[in-house]
Amino acid sequence: MLGAVEAGGSKFVCGVGTSPEDLITEQIPATTPEETLEAVVAFFRRAAGSKLEAVGIASFGPVDPHPGSPTFGYITCTPKLGWRGTDVAGTVGRGLGVPVGFDTDVNGAALGEARWGAARGIADFLYLTVGTGIGGGAMVNGKLLHGLLHPEMGHLRIPHDRERDPYAGGCPFHGDCLEGLASGPALRARWSMAPRELPAGHPAWELEAEYLALGLHNLVCTLSPRRIVIGGGVLHQQCLLPMVRTGLARLLNGYIEAAEIVVEMDRFVVPPDLGDRAGVLGALVLAEEAAGPRPSSEMSTPTTP
Ligand code: ZN
Repeated sequence: MLGAVEAGGSKFVCGVGTSPEDLITEQIPATTPEETLEAVVAFFRRAAGSKLEAVGIASFGPVDPHPGSPTFGYITCTPKLGWRGTDVAGTVGRGLGVPVGFDTDVNGAALGEARWGAARGIADFLYLTVGTGIGGGAMVNGKLLHGLLHPEMGHLRIPHDRERDPYAGGCPFHGDCLEGLASGPALRARWSMAPRELPAGHPAWELEAEYLALGLHNLVCTLSPRRIVIGGGVLHQQCLLPMVRTGLARLLNGYIEAAEIVVEMDRFVVPPDLGDRAGVLGALVLAEEAAGPRPSSEMSTPTTP
């Protein structure tokens, strides 16, 4: 039995099982690190006991995802109060006595979509989430891209026409980076309304689609993905995704001559298949990798980070 944790800024989704059809989950509110991680350990003791082989954690960040680093499995410089420098993987691993796989929440979601969702069989793709923040995970040649730490796709710089949009941007580090302009909180601050209350046809969505298309344009030009899976709370507004596709095609302006973009844009930029379960299911893949090779090849994966 494997354990999975999607560690979010407001809640931790914990699960035990082996697949989307076999996964029992429970939500734990994210309070202090001590209280939250104690509740996580208690959940796995209760739900799996000695049958637990390994745990995978897909965490909000920034994090240190490099095994062997002295701060592997830590949340590093997060603005979330009290969580900076928290040893998430170590605390859970010591508490349960099992190996722990650890990566970013968006890399986790990318793993989930690669295994069971909208990116099955695709070795090069991006997973992007647009919600409280904006984050992205990249699969390159069937492996998650980490590099120095991990990509921070939400913090791309994009053009910002201050006459059209006087909102200064909400990123505490960069002001008007992509996340600063296009996250859920940015929409709320600019229009004084929660994103879910902004109706289709509201000018908010045209501007939002423009910003997201600018971000995707840069990512397409940099990473050459074969597909982009884009989800998160802001995308719950159904009118947005088609506008992003149209904006991306317009910005690329025929420069990238691939059928996927020119004639199959609807299949190039797609919603996640796993919806809100992508993160916890990706954490399950991380757990499986941490558990090591198994006799059955049924759960094997080419996407070891
Ligand atoms: Zn930023």
